[in-house]
Formats: sequence, structure tokens, C-alpha cells
Amino acid sequence: MNVAPLILLLGSNQGESQVLLKNARALLEEALGEIKIVSSIYRTKAWGKTNQPDFLNQVVVIPYTGHAVSALDLVLEIEHKLGRTRTVKWGERTMDIDILYYGNQICQTARLTLPHPALHIRRFALVPLCEILPDFIHPVFNKTQVQLLDECPDHLEVIKLL
Ligand code: ATP
Ligand code: CA
Ligand code: CA
Repeated sequence: MNVAPLILLLGSNQGESQVLLKNARALLEEALGEIKIVSSIYRTKAWGKTNQPDFLNQVVVIPYTGHAVSALDLVLEIEHKLGRTRTVKWGERTMDIDILYYGNQICQTARLTLPHPALHIRRFALVPLCEILPDFIHPVFNKTQVQLLDECPDHLEVIKLL
């Protein structure tokens, strides 16, 4: 049985975001396994579609043995349970759970891209990653999270909340 870290980015900018993050962590532990590492919660300016409320973001790490697509199905189900609806691309949401990395797996299918294709151009992903996994290597770019943050073109505000 191969265990690899499933590295997830949680984001919320609609509803009681702090409570939603807590509920998401509980549902993730039920569905996928114990969260071994958790970043601080960050308040971040909305990326891509900027005229919407700030987000709360947090990265969590779960050692996982299942298939990447099974993990995707489970996180999408949790988003749904937490009231996620999809109307506008990059619009407001109660909960978004992206798979940033699954160990060093590289995958490009219609449903799933690993590592997440935009993480290296998003400070709201890289800042929490640098807090908990600064030396983790991006398997495509062969760079650490610290190097990726250093080279990141995004300058939107990311502030540690708690
Ligand atoms: P972005 O992916 O740019 O952050 P988003 O999170 O708003 O945008 P969603 O509407 O949440 O996008 O997801 C759309 C689809 O993206 C999902 O249904 C899923 O099939 C696909 N997807 C591809 N790669 C990933 C990944 N690494 N993590 C999560 N979803 C992914
Ligand atoms: Ca996302
Ligand atoms: Ca998503």
C-alpha cells in the first residue's frame, strides 16, 4: 500500500467561512483520513474575479492511499455538503477544495490535473504551502514551494489570520 501526502487547499468567501473551514476539516477526516499537517488560516484577496469578498484559505495534508480520482470525488461531495453551488467561474463559494498535490503524481485528464495547474501563479496557495511544506518539490517544475513563491507573478494580499 503506497501512502502519499494529499495536499489540499480549502477556500471560502461566502457564509461563515471560519466555521465552514472547520466543518470541511471534520468531513475530510471522516472521508479521507487524519489531517497530519494544517496551515494557518489566511485572509486573501479574490484572484481571477476580483469584485467579490476576500477569501479565507487554508492548506491541509492527509496521508492517503486511494486513487487520486477517488479523492477528487470525495472532496467534491464535501463541497456539495457544505453548500457549494457553481454559477459564475471563480465566483463566490461556501467551500472550494482543490487538490494541489498528491505526492509527486503528475496527471492530466479531463477531470483532474495534478499538480493543480494554477498553484504556482497563486500567492493564496503558495504562502500557506511555504508555511508548512517549504521544501516540498513541485514534480513538474522541480522547484520548492519557497522558490515558486519567490518567482510568483501574483501580488494579491495574503494575510495570516490565525
Ligand atoms: P480553479 O481550479 O482554477 O481553482 P475552481 O476551483 O473554481 O477553479 P471548480 O469549479 O471548483 O474550479 O472545479 C471544476 C473542476 O476542476 C472540478 O470538477 C474537477 O473535475 C476539476 N479539477 C481538475 N484538476 C483539479 C484539481 N487538482 N483539484 C480539484 N479539481 C480539479
Ligand atoms: Ca479553486
Ligand atoms: Ca475547485
